[in-house]
Order: sequence, then C-alpha cells, then structure tokens
Amino acid sequence: AARLLDVRDLRVEFRTRDGIAEAVGGVSYAVDAGRTLAVLGESGSGKSVTAQAVMGILDSPPGRVTGGQVLFRGRDLLTMGAEERRRIRGAALAMIFQDALSALNPVLPVGAQLAEMYEVHRGMSRRDARRRAVELMDRVRIPAAGQRAGDYPHQFSGGMRQRIMIAMAMALEPDLIIADEPTTALDVTVQAQVMELLAELRREYAMGLVLITHDLGVVADVADTIAVMYAGRIVETAPVRDLYRRPAHPYTRGLLDSVPRVDDRGERLYAIKGAPPSPLALPSGCPFHPRCPRAQEVCRVERPPLYEVTADAGADGRTSACHFWKEELHA
Ligand code: SF4
Ligand code: MG
Repeated sequence: AARLLDVRDLRVEFRTRDGIAEAVGGVSYAVDAGRTLAVLGESGSGKSVTAQAVMGILDSPPGRVTGGQVLFRGRDLLTMGAEERRRIRGAALAMIFQDALSALNPVLPVGAQLAEMYEVHRGMSRRDARRRAVELMDRVRIPAAGQRAGDYPHQFSGGMRQRIMIAMAMALEPDLIIADEPTTALDVTVQAQVMELLAELRREYAMGLVLITHDLGVVADVADTIAVMYAGRIVETAPVRDLYRRPAHPYTRGLLDSVPRVDDRGERLYAIKGAPPSPLALPSGCPFHPRCPRAQEVCRVERPPLYEVTADAGADGRTSACHFWKEELHA
C-alpha cells in the first residue's frame, strides 16, 4: 500500500510562563493508504499536539515545531511552499474534532456548510453543491437528510453532529483523515455507531485514518496498528492484536488492565497509580519510572531508546521504549 503520511522525529515546544515545555519529543509514525493507525494516550501525552503540528493548526505562538519532518506522499509539509501546503491540507488531508459544535459554523445550516465545500473547492453551482450536500448527509446516515439540510448544528444530537463533521471531512474525498477523540463526547452506543461509520468509509474510499484516543476499547476493532504515547513520546507500537496479546511496555499493560469503571469526570480509571508528568518537569531517565511497577535503578538514570521488538515471531515493526521490554513481553 502507498505510504501516505510519514512523521519523522517530530518535535514541538510550547513557551509557557514557567519555561519551555517539550510537548512532543521526537515522534515518528507512518500511515499507509487503506490502513488505520490508533494513537493512544492519556490527556497531555502529546497525541493531539502531534496531530495539530501535522495539520499545521498548532497554536503558534506559544507552540512551535522545532524539528522533524511531516512527509505527505513523500513531500515535507513543514518545508514546502505555503500555497502548495494549503492545497494539500484543504483537500487531501482532513481532520475531525471531538467537539463538532464548536468546529461547525453555528449560524449556517449544515447543508449550506457542506455545499460551500463543493462550491469553493470544486467550483460547483450552488444547486449542484446543495444536491451533493444532501447525498453526503444521506451517506453518513442522517435520517431525512433532504429536510434536515436546512437545520443548524445545535438542532442535531451529538451523534448526528459528529456524523455531519465526518461528512465535512469526507466531502473532498481526502486521502487521509485525522480524527481526534471523535467519539469521546458521545454515549457508548452512539460511539460504536460513529466508529463503525468511520471504519466503513475508510474501507469504501481506501483512505488512511489516524484515530487519536485515550480509550483503547473504542479503537480495538477498527485499528490495524497502535502507537502508545506517554509524556510526548511514543513508548510502544504494534499491530493491534499483538499489542493486546502481549504488550512490550509496562505502560501499555497498565492501560490494558485499566478497569472499566467511570470516575466523576467521566474518564476511565487506570490501574496505573499516579498521574502523567508535566512536560515542564519530566522525570530523569525513563519518564514513566515514577509510576512503573517494573522500574529498576537504571530506569532513573538512562532514558530508554525505542527498541525494536524482535523476539516475537511475526512481530515485524514492533517497538518499545522500555529497557526491560523482553521481560515485559514474556511476563
Ligand atoms: Fe518501567 Fe524501566 Fe521500562 Fe521505563 S524503562 S517502562 S521505568 S521498566
Ligand atoms: Mg486531546
């Protein structure tokens, strides 16, 4: 399959009142056409910031890309001319956000917002664009799409609004969609339906899909590969089944063991004690060591590189940033 996106050693800093925070400390991941990569991590792990840097929508300042490459079909989005970058980001790359209500225009009917995409980017007449907009609303299974095209975003349920966001992202038939917590605000049944719709569209259009989430349960059925992030870095990558069966990093194991209870903020409770570190005060050595049940003296001193996980037959492309990945794999 064609390589669509190849993020290499991406680094992002934020200037804060308390100093410079390394929010993304050298992240690499790749997505091929027709494949789904899930990027998993707790909030503050750098997964959204990485995506924003890829899309060119970092809040800058205070955010700044300080290194790395973002290759889209082999060309670096970070160094190409502004005009070409705009063209690619407008049509070939699309993003879906968690909060559809704030991503959509509140004072324009949704049909008109979709039609505008076709008018502006495809030069369609208003009439043709409106017809296409309704077809698309129908495709993402908005009931009575023809009638509902005249409704405003706030008149839709959360799940229907997220379908409209998906329609907006799909309108120009992009090569790649990055979806940042696309179902987090929805209840569990609706989450599954929206995720299934995304997976179905991904197959139908042979797109690449990057799914950013804090909830492994949501992406387990639709992802091909998972990249786990912690403290601004990737700590493990693996095909989804391998990662489930035999994680090669203690943090991943902690996520897998997380109990499906819900606390008062509506977040999953993790079996891992403690909280992720501030990017302004990363622990020495392995940034996970204060929370790691497997930590040894070396973990406090030496930062683990991203090791290739090779012991497992058929473990191609697996990586783990743990000094003791072998022990973890065979635990
Ligand atoms: Fe735990 Fe050490 Fe591995 Fe870090 S390197 S995850 S502290 S065992
Ligand atoms: Mg986020």
